[in-house]
Amino acid sequence: MILDFKTLAKEYGTPLYVYDFEYMRAQYCALKEVFGGEKSLISYAVKSNSNLSVIQNFAKEGSGADCVSIGEVKRALLAGVKPYKIIFSGVGKSDVEIKEALELNILMINVESEAELKRVESVAKTLGVEARISIRVNPNVDPKTHPYISTGLHENKFGVEIDIAKRMYIYAKNSSHLDPVGIHFHIGSQLTNLEPLSEAASIIADLVRSLKAIGVEIKFFDIGGGIGVKYYGDEELIDLEAYALEIKKAIKGLDLTIVCEPGRFLTANGGYLLTKVLYEKQNGQKRFTIVDAAMNDLLRPSLYNAYHGVELLEEKESEISTTDIVGPICESGDFLAKDIELPPLSSGDLLLIKSAGAYGFTMASNYNTRGRACEVACDDEQGCRVIRRREMFEDLIDAEKLYLQGE
Ligand SMILES: *Cc1c(COP(=O)(O)O)cnc(C)c1O
Repeated sequence: MILDFKTLAKEYGTPLYVYDFEYMRAQYCALKEVFGGEKSLISYAVKSNSNLSVIQNFAKEGSGADCVSIGEVKRALLAGVKPYKIIFSGVGKSDVEIKEALELNILMINVESEAELKRVESVAKTLGVEARISIRVNPNVDPKTHPYISTGLHENKFGVEIDIAKRMYIYAKNSSHLDPVGIHFHIGSQLTNLEPLSEAASIIADLVRSLKAIGVEIKFFDIGGGIGVKYYGDEELIDLEAYALEIKKAIKGLDLTIVCEPGRFLTANGGYLLTKVLYEKQNGQKRFTIVDAAMNDLLRPSLYNAYHGVELLEEKESEISTTDIVGPICESGDFLAKDIELPPLSSGDLLLIKSAGAYGFTMASNYNTRGRACEVACDDEQGCRVIRRREMFEDLIDAEKLYLQGE
């Protein structure tokens, strides 16, 4: 949809996150569609953007939720996701989290180690229930993405090797407090190459077949998330039809529900960070554009050296030159873009940071005692509305001020 960023900046101030709910829903539907004809569940990876209204926007379409903390599970429930569509993943779950997840009767807990399997069993035993679990298997394929967001190699901390997984499934089958219903892999994020995904899918599908032979009946084939998106604009992306086809091919002959856990694919390009120019300065030969958004609002450039497109929302005639877009935080790593071409800017000019809908606000912090930005959502039906108000100074000190000592 067409968004009037200038009016939004005037109305809600900057820095401002703006989400296009129409775009996000369209992404969801495109993915749901390619798995049509199969039993499938799209479980939105809440960590990519956990605003309640964002989750609700997907829940209304029938989405499930992939959660990596009990906090995310509770967000999903609050936003209207059905418990039987919620998956609890993550490499380190505490007993308290496991207990709550079992009490909330979610679809399944994704187990990532033998030790964790035993914890889940013992908590389930205490509660007198049978825990539905899936095991995250590390298929040891190279996802060909950034090392920070690669998760499917043995050198990463995620999942367990095939042999260990087999042992765990046998253990779970023989336990009266574990019900092994699913199998899971997630090899990395921002994947732009189909091959590692289809390789992983065949490896895991073969494991399902050999488990079946020994009496372990898997029902959910969870292929993780990781579908890449355009940041530069000219990337070759995974073709969704081909992706679905590869998965269907891998599980041919098996009676499985395909579970897909997209995060970035659903949200990244449906989000923008709107920021205002404060000043420009020149240090020697180097030009800097200082804006009111910073690494505490959008960490990806500082953390991964990630690229985000920047668009100037003003008409300028003057000649362009190279500049770095930096924030007010006292860190040299505080930048949003480097070496981009822009005309000279003045205080108050608006810049749009693109592809900021995933891992944007969710990674925001209060570093330098900066309140987190306001979030606004737009759709055809309701226009634009606040879905999280800007944080105030009071919000930031609320949990501390009680403890100040008197004279
Ligand atoms: C992060 C994560 C996802 C989502 O990854 P995207 O790259 O945002 O699609 C899905 N599943 C698991 C287990 C994850 O950890």
